[in-house]
Amino acid sequence: MNKMRSFAAVYNCGIIYFNDTIYSIFIEKYMNCPFCNTTDTKVIDSRETDDGKITRRRRVCEKCKLRFSTYEEVALLNLSVIKKDGTSVPYDKAKISQGLIKALIKRPVSEEKISTLLSSIEYEIRTLEKSSITTKEIGKIILKNLKKVDQVAYVRFASVFKSFGSIDSFKKELDNLDKE
Ligand SMILES: [Zn+2]
Repeated sequence: MNKMRSFAAVYNCGIIYFNDTIYSIFIEKYMNCPFCNTTDTKVIDSRETDDGKITRRRRVCEKCKLRFSTYEEVALLNLSVIKKDGTSVPYDKAKISQGLIKALIKRPVSEEKISTLLSSIEYEIRTLEKSSITTKEIGKIILKNLKKVDQVAYVRFASVFKSFGSIDSFKKELDNLDKE
């Protein structure tokens, strides 16, 4: 088995909040202001998460003066993702975050928790030390981690991922949640 090689590359993940609930999550290689898109932003605060895996930066846009946070961490490279139809595409963190956006939208989950969630998911993928992974395997890892963070988001994600064939299978999933 080919061991995955990883390179240090910085990606940014930003989360926009309105009234303490998540409005949107975005990931970009270069950070622009999410409101007016200017590249002219200034770092006003910088700190690492407890485990040192992520650096959180608080930024202010020089143009529209709005504030937002970005997260920088080592990205997973040289990993291919095998889709349902058997074709493979390069691993793309933005796709994971898009799935999370849909599940977490309007949920009261803190910025800290989301950045930790994203990094736990990637950490788990990285520790598999594989050169390829199926979308199904990724989905399972996301579900496992999401369950610990927010049960509503978990059910939302599960309903898309598992594409419940019937109301009964959906109910069964909810019953399983209650038991835990
Ligand atoms: Zn701006």
